[in-house]
Amino acid sequence: MTNAQASLAHLYRVFTKPEGQDSKLAQIERHLSDNLADFLSRHVVASNRSLEDIEQDFNQSLIPEQPQFVSEHAEQLLDKLVAHSVNTYSPRFIGHMTSALPYFHLSLAKLLVGLNQNLVKIETSKAFTPLERQVLGMIHRLVYKHDDSFYQQYLHNANRSLGSFCSGGTIANISALWVARNRLFAPRGQFRGISQDGLLAGMQEYGYQKLSVITSRRGHYSLGKAVDVLGLGRQSLLTLPCPNQTLDPQLALKEGQAILAQGGKVMALIALAGTTETGHIDPLDELADVAAELGCHLHVDAAWGGATLFSRRYGGLLKGIERADSVTLDAHKQMYVPMGAGMVLFKDPDAGNQVRHHAQYILRQGSKDLGATSLEGSRNGMAMMLYASLHILGRNGYELLIDQSIEKAKAFAAMIEAHPHFQLTTSPVLCLLTYRYVPQAVQERLLVEPQLANSLHPLLDELTVAIQKHQRESGHSFVSRTRLETQDYPQQAINVFRVVLANPLTSADDLTEILAEQHRLAVTLPQFRQVMEALG
Ligand SMILES: *Cc1c(COP(=O)(O)O)cnc(C)c1O
Repeated sequence: MTNAQASLAHLYRVFTKPEGQDSKLAQIERHLSDNLADFLSRHVVASNRSLEDIEQDFNQSLIPEQPQFVSEHAEQLLDKLVAHSVNTYSPRFIGHMTSALPYFHLSLAKLLVGLNQNLVKIETSKAFTPLERQVLGMIHRLVYKHDDSFYQQYLHNANRSLGSFCSGGTIANISALWVARNRLFAPRGQFRGISQDGLLAGMQEYGYQKLSVITSRRGHYSLGKAVDVLGLGRQSLLTLPCPNQTLDPQLALKEGQAILAQGGKVMALIALAGTTETGHIDPLDELADVAAELGCHLHVDAAWGGATLFSRRYGGLLKGIERADSVTLDAHKQMYVPMGAGMVLFKDPDAGNQVRHHAQYILRQGSKDLGATSLEGSRNGMAMMLYASLHILGRNGYELLIDQSIEKAKAFAAMIEAHPHFQLTTSPVLCLLTYRYVPQAVQERLLVEPQLANSLHPLLDELTVAIQKHQRESGHSFVSRTRLETQDYPQQAINVFRVVLANPLTSADDLTEILAEQHRLAVTLPQFRQVMEALG
Protein backbone atom coordinates (compact mmCIF):
# COMPACT_ATOMS: atom_id res chain seq x y z
CA MET A 1 0.00 0.00 0.00
CA THR A 2 1.37 3.40 -0.94
CA ASN A 3 0.87 6.17 1.53
CA ALA A 4 0.80 9.87 0.95
CA GLN A 5 3.64 11.88 2.49
CA ALA A 6 2.96 13.78 5.69
CA SER A 7 4.64 16.94 4.50
CA LEU A 8 3.36 20.44 5.04
CA ALA A 9 3.13 20.90 1.28
CA HIS A 10 0.85 17.89 1.08
CA LEU A 11 -1.32 19.15 3.94
CA TYR A 12 -1.68 22.56 2.30
CA ARG A 13 -2.80 20.79 -0.87
CA VAL A 14 -5.61 19.09 1.08
CA PHE A 15 -7.02 22.53 1.86
CA THR A 16 -6.60 23.90 -1.65
CA LYS A 17 -9.40 23.76 -4.17
CA PRO A 18 -8.30 21.38 -6.96
CA GLU A 19 -8.15 22.88 -10.46
CA GLY A 20 -10.00 21.63 -13.51
CA GLN A 21 -13.06 19.58 -14.33
CA ASP A 22 -11.14 16.36 -14.40
CA SER A 23 -9.06 16.73 -11.31
CA LYS A 24 -8.48 13.57 -9.34
CA LEU A 25 -10.95 14.78 -6.71
CA ALA A 26 -13.66 15.35 -9.32
CA GLN A 27 -13.14 11.76 -10.51
CA ILE A 28 -13.39 10.46 -6.94
CA GLU A 29 -16.53 12.49 -6.43
CA ARG A 30 -18.14 11.00 -9.53
CA HIS A 31 -17.09 7.53 -8.48
CA LEU A 32 -18.61 8.02 -5.02
CA SER A 33 -21.86 9.45 -6.29
CA ASP A 34 -22.23 6.67 -8.89
CA ASN A 35 -21.80 4.13 -6.12
CA LEU A 36 -24.26 5.95 -3.91
CA ALA A 37 -26.88 6.10 -6.64
CA ASP A 38 -26.37 2.39 -7.26
CA PHE A 39 -26.74 1.61 -3.56
CA LEU A 40 -29.88 3.70 -3.12
CA SER A 41 -31.61 2.31 -6.19
CA ARG A 42 -31.36 -1.25 -4.91
CA HIS A 43 -34.47 -2.65 -3.25
CA VAL A 44 -32.46 -4.48 -0.63
CA VAL A 45 -32.65 -2.77 2.76
CA ALA A 46 -29.37 -4.04 4.21
CA SER A 47 -26.59 -6.52 3.44
CA ASN A 48 -26.82 -9.83 5.29
CA ARG A 49 -23.35 -9.53 6.81
CA SER A 50 -23.60 -9.90 10.58
CA LEU A 51 -22.87 -7.01 12.92
CA GLU A 52 -20.19 -9.12 14.62
CA ASP A 53 -18.40 -9.53 11.28
CA ILE A 54 -18.67 -5.83 10.57
CA GLU A 55 -17.18 -5.06 13.98
CA GLN A 56 -14.03 -6.84 12.80
CA ASP A 57 -13.61 -4.10 10.19
CA PHE A 58 -13.71 -1.47 12.92
CA ASN A 59 -11.57 -2.95 15.67
CA GLN A 60 -8.51 -0.68 15.46
CA SER A 61 -7.70 1.57 18.39
CA LEU A 62 -4.56 3.18 16.97
CA ILE A 63 -4.85 6.30 14.82
CA PRO A 64 -3.02 5.68 11.52
CA GLU A 65 0.43 7.32 11.55
CA GLN A 66 0.64 8.20 7.88
CA PRO A 67 -1.83 10.11 5.73
CA GLN A 68 -3.69 8.23 3.04
CA PHE A 69 -4.69 9.27 -0.49
CA VAL A 70 -8.34 10.29 -0.70
CA SER A 71 -8.91 7.87 -3.59
CA GLU A 72 -7.64 4.97 -1.55
CA HIS A 73 -9.66 5.97 1.49
CA ALA A 74 -12.80 6.38 -0.61
CA GLU A 75 -12.56 2.74 -1.70
CA GLN A 76 -12.33 1.68 1.95
CA LEU A 77 -15.41 3.70 2.82
CA LEU A 78 -17.36 2.11 -0.03
CA ASP A 79 -16.37 -1.43 0.95
CA LYS A 80 -16.54 -1.27 4.69
CA LEU A 81 -19.16 1.35 5.37
CA VAL A 82 -21.50 2.12 2.48
CA ALA A 83 -21.99 -1.52 1.50
CA HIS A 84 -23.17 -2.41 5.01
CA SER A 85 -25.21 0.64 5.89
CA VAL A 86 -29.02 0.63 5.85
CA ASN A 87 -30.81 1.69 2.69
CA THR A 88 -33.33 4.04 4.26
CA TYR A 89 -34.35 5.02 0.70
CA SER A 90 -35.78 1.59 -0.05
CA PRO A 91 -39.58 1.63 -0.56
CA ARG A 92 -39.62 -1.53 1.57
CA PHE A 93 -37.96 0.17 4.52
CA ILE A 94 -41.16 1.06 6.37
CA GLY A 95 -40.23 0.65 10.03
CA HIS A 96 -38.98 4.02 11.19
CA MET A 97 -39.39 7.77 10.90
CA THR A 98 -36.08 8.01 9.04
CA SER A 99 -36.69 7.71 5.31
CA ALA A 100 -35.77 8.59 1.76
CA LEU A 101 -35.05 12.25 1.02
CA PRO A 102 -35.77 14.31 -2.08
CA TYR A 103 -32.62 14.14 -4.20
CA PHE A 104 -32.06 17.89 -4.30
CA HIS A 105 -30.85 17.65 -0.72
CA LEU A 106 -27.70 15.89 -1.92
CA SER A 107 -26.63 18.96 -3.89
CA LEU A 108 -27.67 21.33 -1.13
CA ALA A 109 -25.70 19.29 1.40
CA LYS A 110 -22.57 20.05 -0.57
CA LEU A 111 -23.33 23.74 -0.31
CA LEU A 112 -23.94 23.44 3.42
CA VAL A 113 -20.64 21.68 4.09
CA GLY A 114 -18.86 23.89 1.59
CA LEU A 115 -19.88 27.08 3.36
CA ASN A 116 -19.52 25.60 6.87
CA GLN A 117 -21.47 28.37 8.58
CA ASN A 118 -21.85 28.41 12.34
CA LEU A 119 -25.28 29.66 13.42
CA VAL A 120 -24.28 30.28 17.01
CA LYS A 121 -23.28 33.84 16.07
CA ILE A 122 -23.74 36.26 13.19
CA GLU A 123 -19.97 36.70 12.82
CA THR A 124 -19.82 33.15 11.41
CA SER A 125 -23.17 33.00 9.62
CA LYS A 126 -24.40 36.45 8.47
CA ALA A 127 -27.31 35.79 6.03
CA PHE A 128 -27.89 32.35 7.51
CA THR A 129 -29.12 33.95 10.74
CA PRO A 130 -32.02 35.94 9.20
CA LEU A 131 -32.79 32.90 7.03
CA GLU A 132 -33.11 30.71 10.10
CA ARG A 133 -35.29 33.28 11.84
CA GLN A 134 -37.52 33.41 8.78
CA VAL A 135 -37.87 29.61 8.71
CA LEU A 136 -38.77 29.62 12.42
CA GLY A 137 -41.32 32.33 11.68
CA MET A 138 -42.90 30.30 8.86
CA ILE A 139 -43.27 27.20 11.02
CA HIS A 140 -44.43 29.34 13.96
CA ARG A 141 -47.15 30.78 11.72
CA LEU A 142 -48.13 27.28 10.57
CA VAL A 143 -48.71 26.38 14.23
CA TYR A 144 -49.90 29.63 15.85
CA LYS A 145 -51.44 31.44 12.86
CA HIS A 146 -50.73 35.01 13.98
CA ASP A 147 -51.09 37.84 11.46
CA ASP A 148 -48.52 39.75 9.39
CA SER A 149 -48.00 42.48 11.94
CA PHE A 150 -47.05 39.95 14.63
CA TYR A 151 -44.35 38.45 12.43
CA GLN A 152 -43.14 41.86 11.27
CA GLN A 153 -42.67 42.77 14.88
CA TYR A 154 -40.88 39.62 16.06
CA LEU A 155 -39.25 37.85 13.11
CA HIS A 156 -35.91 39.70 13.41
CA ASN A 157 -36.31 41.23 16.85
CA ALA A 158 -33.05 41.19 18.85
CA ASN A 159 -34.83 40.83 22.20
CA ARG A 160 -37.43 38.25 21.26
CA SER A 161 -37.47 34.87 19.59
CA LEU A 162 -40.18 32.72 18.10
CA GLY A 163 -38.27 29.54 18.89
CA SER A 164 -35.02 27.88 18.15
CA PHE A 165 -33.56 25.50 15.65
CA CYS A 166 -31.64 22.51 17.00
CA SER A 167 -30.41 19.05 16.14
CA GLY A 168 -33.70 17.30 16.84
CA GLY A 169 -36.78 16.60 18.94
CA THR A 170 -34.79 15.56 21.97
CA ILE A 171 -33.01 18.92 22.28
CA ALA A 172 -36.26 20.70 21.38
CA ASN A 173 -38.11 18.96 24.22
CA ILE A 174 -35.32 19.74 26.68
CA SER A 175 -35.31 23.38 25.53
CA ALA A 176 -39.08 23.67 26.00
CA LEU A 177 -38.96 22.26 29.52
CA TRP A 178 -35.93 24.41 30.33
CA VAL A 179 -37.99 27.51 29.54
CA ALA A 180 -40.97 26.13 31.51
CA ARG A 181 -38.76 25.45 34.51
CA ASN A 182 -37.07 28.85 34.50
CA ARG A 183 -40.37 30.65 34.11
CA LEU A 184 -41.89 28.73 37.00
CA PHE A 185 -38.97 29.61 39.27
CA ALA A 186 -38.73 33.27 38.32
CA PRO A 187 -36.58 35.65 40.42
CA ARG A 188 -38.33 37.34 43.34
CA GLY A 189 -36.99 39.06 46.44
CA GLN A 190 -33.57 37.65 47.35
CA PHE A 191 -34.08 34.68 45.02
CA ARG A 192 -32.28 35.35 41.72
CA GLY A 193 -34.16 32.73 39.73
CA ILE A 194 -33.45 29.06 39.20
CA SER A 195 -30.83 29.61 36.51
CA GLN A 196 -28.71 31.49 39.10
CA ASP A 197 -29.62 29.86 42.41
CA GLY A 198 -30.58 26.32 41.36
CA LEU A 199 -33.48 23.99 41.93
CA LEU A 200 -33.10 23.46 45.67
CA ALA A 201 -33.27 27.19 46.39
CA GLY A 202 -36.20 27.47 43.99
CA MET A 203 -38.19 24.75 45.73
CA GLN A 204 -37.56 26.40 49.09
CA GLU A 205 -38.44 29.86 47.85
CA TYR A 206 -41.70 28.71 46.28
CA GLY A 207 -42.47 26.12 48.98
CA TYR A 208 -43.23 23.21 46.67
CA GLN A 209 -43.15 19.75 48.24
CA LYS A 210 -42.63 18.09 44.88
CA LEU A 211 -42.37 18.93 41.21
CA SER A 212 -43.97 16.88 38.43
CA VAL A 213 -44.31 16.69 34.67
CA ILE A 214 -47.35 14.84 33.33
CA THR A 215 -47.56 12.94 30.05
CA SER A 216 -48.89 9.62 28.80
CA ARG A 217 -47.13 6.25 28.58
CA ARG A 218 -46.63 7.00 24.90
CA GLY A 219 -44.45 10.00 25.75
CA HIS A 220 -41.12 9.85 23.93
CA TYR A 221 -38.10 8.63 25.95
CA SER A 222 -36.47 12.04 25.42
CA LEU A 223 -38.85 13.39 28.08
CA GLY A 224 -37.19 11.14 30.64
CA LYS A 225 -33.81 12.54 29.60
CA ALA A 226 -35.21 16.08 29.83
CA VAL A 227 -36.41 15.84 33.45
CA ASP A 228 -33.12 14.13 34.26
CA VAL A 229 -30.85 16.88 32.88
CA LEU A 230 -33.10 19.64 34.25
CA GLY A 231 -32.53 18.30 37.76
CA LEU A 232 -36.10 17.11 38.44
CA GLY A 233 -35.19 13.43 38.24
CA ARG A 234 -36.89 10.73 36.23
CA GLN A 235 -39.32 9.96 39.05
CA SER A 236 -40.89 13.37 38.51
CA LEU A 237 -42.18 12.32 35.07
CA LEU A 238 -45.65 10.90 35.53
CA THR A 239 -46.55 8.70 32.56
CA LEU A 240 -50.27 7.92 32.67
CA PRO A 241 -51.75 4.74 31.20
CA CYS A 242 -53.46 5.19 27.84
CA PRO A 243 -54.93 1.90 26.57
CA ASN A 244 -56.71 3.78 23.78
CA GLN A 245 -53.37 5.43 22.92
CA THR A 246 -54.25 9.00 23.90
CA LEU A 247 -53.95 10.87 27.18
CA ASP A 248 -57.30 11.07 28.98
CA PRO A 249 -57.86 14.73 30.04
CA GLN A 250 -59.95 13.67 33.05
CA LEU A 251 -57.17 11.40 34.28
CA ALA A 252 -54.53 14.09 33.69
CA LEU A 253 -56.62 16.59 35.65
CA LYS A 254 -57.21 14.15 38.51
CA GLU A 255 -53.52 13.25 38.79
CA GLY A 256 -52.52 16.91 38.55
CA GLN A 257 -54.94 17.93 41.28
CA ALA A 258 -53.64 15.14 43.50
CA ILE A 259 -50.13 16.59 43.15
CA LEU A 260 -51.40 20.08 44.04
CA ALA A 261 -53.26 18.65 47.04
CA GLN A 262 -49.96 17.20 48.31
CA GLY A 263 -48.36 20.64 48.19
CA GLY A 264 -46.65 19.84 44.91
CA LYS A 265 -46.57 21.69 41.60
CA VAL A 266 -47.09 20.50 38.05
CA MET A 267 -44.33 22.11 36.00
CA ALA A 268 -45.67 21.02 32.63
CA LEU A 269 -48.28 18.93 30.92
CA ILE A 270 -46.93 17.31 27.78
CA ALA A 271 -49.36 16.31 25.05
CA LEU A 272 -48.34 14.31 22.01
CA ALA A 273 -49.34 15.13 18.48
CA GLY A 274 -48.30 11.91 16.79
CA THR A 275 -46.89 9.37 19.24
CA THR A 276 -43.72 7.61 18.17
CA GLU A 277 -45.21 4.18 18.70
CA THR A 278 -48.71 4.43 17.22
CA GLY A 279 -49.02 7.91 15.69
CA HIS A 280 -52.01 8.91 17.85
CA ILE A 281 -52.81 12.52 18.70
CA ASP A 282 -53.81 13.54 22.22
CA PRO A 283 -56.95 15.71 22.60
CA LEU A 284 -54.96 18.96 22.53
CA ASP A 285 -57.83 21.39 23.09
CA GLU A 286 -59.09 19.58 26.18
CA LEU A 287 -55.56 19.17 27.52
CA ALA A 288 -55.04 22.92 27.08
CA ASP A 289 -58.03 23.38 29.43
CA VAL A 290 -56.44 20.98 31.90
CA ALA A 291 -53.12 22.87 31.79
CA ALA A 292 -55.01 26.13 32.41
CA GLU A 293 -56.82 24.53 35.34
CA LEU A 294 -53.55 23.26 36.84
CA GLY A 295 -51.76 26.53 36.09
CA CYS A 296 -48.94 24.80 34.27
CA HIS A 297 -46.98 25.02 31.03
CA LEU A 298 -48.49 23.11 28.10
CA HIS A 299 -45.94 21.57 25.77
CA VAL A 300 -47.00 19.73 22.61
CA ASP A 301 -44.51 17.20 21.30
CA ALA A 302 -45.33 17.24 17.59
CA ALA A 303 -41.85 16.11 16.54
CA TRP A 304 -43.27 13.64 14.05
CA GLY A 305 -46.93 14.64 13.66
CA GLY A 306 -46.55 18.43 13.40
CA ALA A 307 -46.14 18.33 9.61
CA THR A 308 -49.79 17.25 9.43
CA LEU A 309 -50.56 20.98 9.73
CA PHE A 310 -49.63 21.32 6.04
CA SER A 311 -52.75 19.33 5.18
CA ARG A 312 -56.12 21.04 4.95
CA ARG A 313 -57.83 17.66 5.24
CA TYR A 314 -55.96 16.35 8.29
CA GLY A 315 -54.52 19.48 9.93
CA GLY A 316 -57.68 19.80 12.04
CA LEU A 317 -56.65 16.68 13.97
CA LEU A 318 -54.19 18.96 15.78
CA LYS A 319 -56.85 21.46 16.82
CA GLY A 320 -55.76 23.19 20.02
CA ILE A 321 -52.02 23.05 19.25
CA GLU A 322 -52.14 26.85 18.93
CA ARG A 323 -52.89 27.00 22.67
CA ALA A 324 -49.59 25.29 23.58
CA ASP A 325 -46.93 27.38 25.33
CA SER A 326 -44.30 25.48 23.35
CA VAL A 327 -44.24 23.00 20.47
CA THR A 328 -41.56 20.58 19.27
CA LEU A 329 -41.30 19.83 15.55
CA ASP A 330 -38.74 17.77 13.63
CA ALA A 331 -38.13 18.75 10.02
CA HIS A 332 -36.08 15.57 9.60
CA LYS A 333 -39.17 13.43 9.98
CA GLN A 334 -42.27 14.23 7.93
CA MET A 335 -40.73 17.30 6.31
CA TYR A 336 -38.15 15.17 4.50
CA VAL A 337 -35.11 17.22 5.49
CA PRO A 338 -31.80 15.50 6.35
CA MET A 339 -31.24 14.63 9.99
CA GLY A 340 -30.24 17.38 12.38
CA ALA A 341 -33.29 19.61 11.88
CA GLY A 342 -35.39 20.03 15.01
CA MET A 343 -37.31 23.07 16.21
CA VAL A 344 -38.90 24.31 19.39
CA LEU A 345 -41.45 27.11 19.02
CA PHE A 346 -42.80 29.39 21.72
CA LYS A 347 -46.21 31.02 21.79
CA ASP A 348 -44.82 33.95 23.74
CA PRO A 349 -41.92 35.66 21.90
CA ASP A 350 -40.56 36.62 25.30
CA ALA A 351 -40.22 32.98 26.45
CA GLY A 352 -36.70 32.51 25.07
CA ASN A 353 -35.48 35.23 27.43
CA GLN A 354 -35.96 32.76 30.30
CA VAL A 355 -32.81 31.01 29.13
CA ARG A 356 -30.91 33.92 27.53
CA HIS A 357 -27.20 33.71 28.08
CA HIS A 358 -24.51 36.26 27.30
CA ALA A 359 -20.78 35.92 26.85
CA GLN A 360 -18.15 38.59 26.40
CA TYR A 361 -16.72 37.66 23.03
CA ILE A 362 -20.01 36.69 21.37
CA LEU A 363 -23.72 36.77 22.21
CA ARG A 364 -23.32 40.31 23.57
CA GLN A 365 -26.29 42.22 24.98
CA GLY A 366 -28.56 43.38 22.17
CA SER A 367 -26.96 41.16 19.54
CA LYS A 368 -29.12 38.99 17.30
CA ASP A 369 -26.86 35.96 17.80
CA LEU A 370 -29.06 32.86 17.87
CA GLY A 371 -26.71 31.21 20.34
CA ALA A 372 -27.91 33.50 23.12
CA THR A 373 -31.14 31.51 23.57
CA SER A 374 -30.22 28.08 22.21
CA LEU A 375 -29.14 25.08 24.25
CA GLU A 376 -26.61 23.98 21.66
CA GLY A 377 -23.47 25.92 20.77
CA SER A 378 -21.86 25.49 17.36
CA ARG A 379 -24.57 24.50 14.92
CA ASN A 380 -24.68 24.16 11.14
CA GLY A 381 -27.05 25.93 8.76
CA MET A 382 -29.52 23.07 8.48
CA ALA A 383 -32.35 25.63 8.42
CA MET A 384 -31.32 26.21 4.80
CA MET A 385 -32.48 22.69 3.93
CA LEU A 386 -35.93 23.38 5.34
CA TYR A 387 -35.98 26.82 3.72
CA ALA A 388 -35.24 25.18 0.35
CA SER A 389 -37.80 22.41 0.87
CA LEU A 390 -40.51 24.88 1.86
CA HIS A 391 -39.90 26.69 -1.45
CA ILE A 392 -39.27 23.73 -3.73
CA LEU A 393 -42.21 21.66 -2.47
CA GLY A 394 -44.38 24.49 -1.20
CA ARG A 395 -47.25 24.03 1.21
CA ASN A 396 -49.21 22.30 -1.53
CA GLY A 397 -46.41 19.81 -2.10
CA TYR A 398 -46.16 18.99 1.59
CA GLU A 399 -49.93 18.64 1.76
CA LEU A 400 -49.84 16.05 -1.02
CA LEU A 401 -47.07 14.10 0.71
CA ILE A 402 -48.95 14.07 4.03
CA ASP A 403 -52.32 13.19 2.48
CA GLN A 404 -51.02 10.35 0.36
CA SER A 405 -49.07 8.84 3.31
CA ILE A 406 -52.18 8.81 5.49
CA GLU A 407 -54.34 7.37 2.74
CA LYS A 408 -51.74 4.69 2.02
CA ALA A 409 -51.70 3.76 5.72
CA LYS A 410 -55.49 3.41 5.66
CA ALA A 411 -55.25 1.18 2.60
CA PHE A 412 -52.57 -0.93 4.29
CA ALA A 413 -54.75 -1.23 7.40
CA ALA A 414 -57.57 -2.55 5.20
CA MET A 415 -55.17 -5.08 3.65
CA ILE A 416 -54.16 -6.30 7.10
CA GLU A 417 -57.76 -6.62 8.23
CA ALA A 418 -58.67 -8.54 5.11
CA HIS A 419 -55.76 -10.96 5.54
CA PRO A 420 -56.73 -14.15 7.40
CA HIS A 421 -53.49 -14.36 9.41
CA PHE A 422 -52.90 -10.77 10.42
CA GLN A 423 -54.56 -8.57 13.03
CA LEU A 424 -54.54 -4.78 13.11
CA THR A 425 -53.67 -3.71 16.67
CA THR A 426 -53.90 0.08 16.29
CA SER A 427 -55.59 1.82 13.34
CA PRO A 428 -53.70 4.61 11.62
CA VAL A 429 -54.65 8.14 12.63
CA LEU A 430 -51.70 9.42 10.58
CA CYS A 431 -49.37 7.22 8.48
CA LEU A 432 -48.36 4.93 11.33
CA LEU A 433 -49.99 1.66 12.32
CA THR A 434 -49.32 -1.48 14.34
CA TYR A 435 -50.36 -5.05 13.69
CA ARG A 436 -49.35 -8.60 14.43
CA TYR A 437 -49.32 -12.06 12.97
CA VAL A 438 -51.99 -14.30 14.49
CA PRO A 439 -52.66 -17.54 12.58
CA GLN A 440 -56.30 -17.79 11.52
CA ALA A 441 -56.87 -20.91 13.65
CA VAL A 442 -55.69 -18.96 16.71
CA GLN A 443 -57.94 -15.99 15.90
CA GLU A 444 -60.94 -18.31 15.63
CA ARG A 445 -60.16 -20.09 18.90
CA LEU A 446 -59.71 -16.81 20.77
CA LEU A 447 -63.16 -15.72 19.64
CA VAL A 448 -64.81 -18.67 21.37
CA GLU A 449 -62.33 -19.09 24.23
CA PRO A 450 -61.01 -15.60 25.10
CA GLN A 451 -59.48 -16.95 28.33
CA LEU A 452 -56.85 -18.71 26.19
CA ALA A 453 -55.31 -15.28 25.56
CA ASN A 454 -53.28 -15.52 28.77
CA SER A 455 -51.39 -18.57 27.58
CA LEU A 456 -51.32 -17.69 23.88
CA HIS A 457 -50.12 -14.09 24.12
CA PRO A 458 -46.62 -14.86 25.39
CA LEU A 459 -46.20 -17.34 22.52
CA LEU A 460 -47.56 -14.86 19.96
CA ASP A 461 -45.17 -12.27 21.41
CA GLU A 462 -42.23 -14.57 20.74
CA LEU A 463 -43.48 -15.28 17.25
CA THR A 464 -43.70 -11.55 16.49
CA VAL A 465 -40.13 -11.00 17.67
CA ALA A 466 -38.85 -13.94 15.61
CA ILE A 467 -40.62 -12.83 12.42
CA GLN A 468 -39.35 -9.26 12.76
CA LYS A 469 -35.79 -10.41 13.38
CA HIS A 470 -35.73 -12.82 10.45
CA GLN A 471 -37.25 -10.28 8.11
CA ARG A 472 -34.66 -7.69 9.13
CA GLU A 473 -31.81 -10.16 8.75
CA SER A 474 -32.90 -11.31 5.31
CA GLY A 475 -32.50 -7.67 4.26
CA HIS A 476 -35.31 -7.35 1.71
CA SER A 477 -37.68 -5.29 3.81
CA PHE A 478 -37.92 -3.78 7.26
CA VAL A 479 -40.71 -3.17 9.75
CA SER A 480 -39.97 -2.32 13.39
CA ARG A 481 -41.67 -3.64 16.48
CA THR A 482 -42.78 -2.34 19.85
CA ARG A 483 -44.67 -3.50 22.91
CA LEU A 484 -47.84 -1.79 24.08
CA GLU A 485 -51.26 -2.06 25.69
CA THR A 486 -54.17 -1.76 23.26
CA GLN A 487 -57.90 -1.25 23.55
CA ASP A 488 -58.50 -4.99 23.18
CA TYR A 489 -55.84 -5.86 25.74
CA PRO A 490 -55.66 -2.87 28.12
CA GLN A 491 -54.04 -4.80 30.98
CA GLN A 492 -51.47 -6.84 29.13
CA ALA A 493 -48.88 -5.32 26.79
CA ILE A 494 -48.40 -7.25 23.55
CA ASN A 495 -45.65 -7.26 20.94
CA VAL A 496 -46.63 -5.72 17.63
CA PHE A 497 -45.11 -4.79 14.29
CA ARG A 498 -44.85 -1.06 13.74
CA VAL A 499 -45.03 0.53 10.31
CA VAL A 500 -44.30 4.15 9.34
CA LEU A 501 -45.25 4.88 5.74
CA ALA A 502 -42.81 7.68 5.03
CA ASN A 503 -41.44 6.89 1.58
CA PRO A 504 -43.80 8.24 -1.11
CA LEU A 505 -42.46 5.56 -3.48
CA THR A 506 -43.73 2.67 -1.35
CA SER A 507 -46.42 0.99 -3.47
CA ALA A 508 -49.35 -1.30 -2.72
CA ASP A 509 -47.27 -4.10 -4.27
CA ASP A 510 -44.46 -3.45 -1.78
CA LEU A 511 -46.94 -3.69 1.09
CA THR A 512 -48.52 -6.89 -0.26
CA GLU A 513 -45.06 -8.42 -0.58
CA ILE A 514 -44.08 -7.42 2.97
CA LEU A 515 -47.12 -9.23 4.40
CA ALA A 516 -46.48 -12.23 2.13
CA GLU A 517 -42.85 -12.39 3.28
CA GLN A 518 -43.91 -12.27 6.94
CA HIS A 519 -46.38 -15.10 6.38
CA ARG A 520 -43.79 -17.20 4.49
CA LEU A 521 -41.27 -16.65 7.29
CA ALA A 522 -43.74 -17.30 10.09
CA VAL A 523 -44.74 -20.82 9.08
CA THR A 524 -41.09 -21.96 9.02
CA LEU A 525 -40.34 -20.80 12.57
CA PRO A 526 -40.26 -22.97 15.72
CA GLN A 527 -42.22 -20.21 17.49
CA PHE A 528 -45.06 -20.82 15.02
CA ARG A 529 -45.13 -24.52 15.89
CA GLN A 530 -45.27 -23.65 19.58
CA VAL A 531 -48.30 -21.43 19.03
CA MET A 532 -50.08 -24.15 17.07
CA GLU A 533 -49.23 -26.82 19.65
CA ALA A 534 -50.67 -24.65 22.41
CA LEU A 535 -53.99 -24.77 20.59
CA GLY A 536 -54.05 -28.50 21.31
C1 LIG B 1 -38.60 11.48 17.12
C2 LIG B 1 -39.30 12.01 18.27
C3 LIG B 1 -38.61 12.71 19.28
C4 LIG B 1 -37.10 12.82 19.32
O1 LIG B 1 -36.59 13.46 18.24
P1 LIG B 1 -35.06 13.30 17.79
O2 LIG B 1 -35.04 14.14 16.59
O3 LIG B 1 -34.85 11.83 17.54
O4 LIG B 1 -34.21 13.79 18.90
C5 LIG B 1 -39.35 13.26 20.31
N1 LIG B 1 -40.68 13.11 20.35
C6 LIG B 1 -41.38 12.44 19.41
C7 LIG B 1 -42.86 12.32 19.53
C8 LIG B 1 -40.70 11.87 18.34
O5 LIG B 1 -41.39 11.19 17.40
